[in-house]
Amino acid sequence: AKKLSIERILHNQGFGARKLCRILVINEEVTVNGELCDDPDATFELENLHYTIKGEAWDYREKSYLMMHKPGNYECSHKTQHHPTIYSLLPHPLVERGVQCIGRLDEDTTGLILISDDGQFIHRMSSPKHKVPKVYEVTCKHAVSDEQIAHILKGVQLIDEDAPIAALACTKISDHVIHMTLAEGKYHQVKRMVAAISNRVEALKRIRIGRLELPQDLKLGEWRWLSEADLNALK
Ligand code: URA
Repeated sequence: AKKLSIERILHNQGFGARKLCRILVINEEVTVNGELCDDPDATFELENLHYTIKGEAWDYREKSYLMMHKPGNYECSHKTQHHPTIYSLLPHPLVERGVQCIGRLDEDTTGLILISDDGQFIHRMSSPKHKVPKVYEVTCKHAVSDEQIAHILKGVQLIDEDAPIAALACTKISDHVIHMTLAEGKYHQVKRMVAAISNRVEALKRIRIGRLELPQDLKLGEWRWLSEADLNALK
């Protein structure tokens, strides 16, 4: 099995320059698999590697896959204009590793967003070819009529789109709230589709991607690693 020095491992995992990682180890701030490690050149197998830095526990990860419950008033880009970035809600080493969110939610949209540093995964999840369905909970300004639902399901013509776009599913939850399932992720798609049926989005929350639901206990602004089952729900 592949072995690497702890200095190189920490560097690869996003804890900064090799020299800085070396100093962390020499300063006795690192344990590996439960034991203090003060030799930066000590080598370890990568599989099932657990380490702590300044008491914080980490598992070695070849790639990072996580979900976040995006809060409102956060932007999904690294360099933001008016609001803090969602990346400020992540531990620094993950940002250092170059994680990216998969598709963007508007600054005022909340809900499930996936984040990874695996280029192939990001590509597969965001490619229009794969049509991963996404479900939105949409709170509308005006009560939603059956005609409006029918229209969304039949397809609405958006300005600057060649053909009408239909939701894969659209169900009424209450007078003002619908669940809408989309195959695409076009710019402001939900807001534009709801505007096209003469209604207006008051609040927007993404509640599902593929078969992965936003967990009830994941609070606004919180994130967690995707489990094997979560990843399978995205296949
Ligand atoms: N559709 C929108 O209009 N906004 C989002 O953030 C996501 C989908």
